[in-house]
Amino acid sequence: MSATILDGNKIAAEIRSEVAAEVKVLTAAGLRPGLAVILAGDNPASEIYVRGKVKSCEETGIYSEKHAPPATVSTQELLDLINSLNRREEIDGILVQLPLPEHVDAKKVLLAVSPAKDVDGFHPMNVGYLSTQRPGLVPCTPAGVVEILKRSHIPIAGQDAVIVGRSDIVGKPVAMLLINANATVTVCHSKTRDLAGVCRRADILVAAIGRPGMITRDFVKPGATVIDVGINKVTDPAEFQRFFAGNAKREESFRAKGSTLVGDVHPQVAEVAGAVTPVPGGVGPLTIAMLMANTVRAAKLRRGHTVQELLRA
Ligand code: NDP
Repeated sequence: MSATILDGNKIAAEIRSEVAAEVKVLTAAGLRPGLAVILAGDNPASEIYVRGKVKSCEETGIYSEKHAPPATVSTQELLDLINSLNRREEIDGILVQLPLPEHVDAKKVLLAVSPAKDVDGFHPMNVGYLSTQRPGLVPCTPAGVVEILKRSHIPIAGQDAVIVGRSDIVGKPVAMLLINANATVTVCHSKTRDLAGVCRRADILVAAIGRPGMITRDFVKPGATVIDVGINKVTDPAEFQRFFAGNAKREESFRAKGSTLVGDVHPQVAEVAGAVTPVPGGVGPLTIAMLMANTVRAAKLRRGHTVQELLRA
């Protein structure tokens, strides 16, 4: 038996086109949603992520602007920038790309983003809204995990869900979303005893660990759905062979690029699972799609009835 591959690119495209339709209605009424992205310093990976986010805004019709202060920017200067964005009516979402330069007080900066414009969903106010099931903004990657399950018609209510990883940005919000969707949730971490045994009880297994291929087939109940959040770069040929030996397409691309991406789930898991997300092309594409959806959601929540009525019409 071979698992169904849950195509994150396809689901993300669906979400982007739904967002684009809503943005069109709002723009026609003079209420175009807007996202401001702050990229401080010159981290090459962050530049690539920000470029992707700006491009996705262009595709969906969301207004975007990029603020790129130099690496020497002070905490106070960033706070001033955020305060001015908080006050601007046409800006619905503010995204502070992490990591910030080392001398900056990142916690203080993130806390300054108005919860109503916190499209990353990391503000303690939004964390509280999520845990008490009030309308708020939900972190993008965890929201993407749940969208994959729902849009793939994988039942959640009453199912045993096991999440490996308890970070504030992935593991914990995924757990909260699945509890809210009536799953029975177990959260595992580095101190969990008999991790493989606990994972084998899962109908839905979510891996958010940051360890290449750690979830092997002995962690997976036959037929389970396995969602792989991990993104790990592999450059060592021996390690590459451990994951992808015999995969001609991957071998060709590894030879050409000198690296490949692997998730936290070993590719062999597809031989026992009922459904799996691939890496790349699984959860990854959902993160930016959900950022677009969150920007429109922020507009709906903050600008209130006008926007909600326009979208219902
Ligand atoms: P963190 O490092 O913050 O958290 C990792 C979690 O995994 C921790 O809770 C840790 O446990 C747990 N863990 C580590 N080793 C083990 C182990 N041997 N056994 C059991 N649990 C273990 O990572 P993030 O949550 O930020 O990210 C997780 C992965 O998801 C990464 O690969 C990251 O790149 C990827 N990611 C992907 C995104 C996407 O868009 N697809 C977005 C964000 C992240 P403990 O708490 O005990 O230390």
